[in-house]
Amino acid sequence: MASLSNSISKGLLYSPELREYMLETFVYPREPKLLKEIRLITSNQPRCLMATAPENGQLIALLLKLTNLKKTIEIGVFTGYSLVLTALTIPDDGKIIAIDLDRDAYQMELQIIKKANIEHKINFIQSSALSSLDELLNENDNRGIFDFAFIDADRVSYQKYHERMLELVKVGGIIVYDNTLWCGTVAMPEKCVKETMKPNRQHIIEFNKFFASDTRVQIFQVPIGDGITICWQL
Ligand code: SAH
Ligand code: CA
Repeated sequence: MASLSNSISKGLLYSPELREYMLETFVYPREPKLLKEIRLITSNQPRCLMATAPENGQLIALLLKLTNLKKTIEIGVFTGYSLVLTALTIPDDGKIIAIDLDRDAYQMELQIIKKANIEHKINFIQSSALSSLDELLNENDNRGIFDFAFIDADRVSYQKYHERMLELVKVGGIIVYDNTLWCGTVAMPEKCVKETMKPNRQHIIEFNKFFASDTRVQIFQVPIGDGITICWQL
């Protein structure tokens, strides 16, 4: 248990060998070149563990394609793995509102975004997510118009994001939450959890409990990457 909490590894329920097999067999060979580039550049960053796990990315791309989603919101851009993945997957007239407090990491990937000719799909907003979502909700035209949302920042606010997303995303739309198993610490005795992981662990535990009983959505928890919860608005 303790070693798991130390490793902050992605691929919670797998042995490292099984995860490697899965990545090498199914994910990396099909990963678009630009995403591979972002993944490699990001791996040299001090905060590289924040990036979306590539197997989660593959699942998100499948969801986007399955339902031909066009209008999306993303909270938490960092170096853009999930953002570029979404932009590459949605149709040419698709739109993404991408929100992050920090523009620097996104700026690094802007060359890649320009090269991929996907910039026209992206509206990057440098802001706190909560205030941006509230601004969007102030305009009635934005209610129920989004097909998809990916939430990957600021775990303390997941419940607040959820309430706002239920207003912004249409009935039948999909909302995905990342890091909902918080390196497996949600199932560990508190004393085995590293101090730095404890606050978010608690927020995630509370969110998961609330979320699991939310009858407004159909949900499924997928134990890949750092845990990803898929929700379909009823
Ligand atoms: N989805 C990204 C990873 C996001 S990491 C990827 O695939 O790489 C989390 C990001 O959330 C960080 O870039 C951080 O700057 C941003 N963030 C943290 N708190 C935030 C807040 N309150 N509002 C908006 N963005 C926030
Ligand atoms: Ca994440």
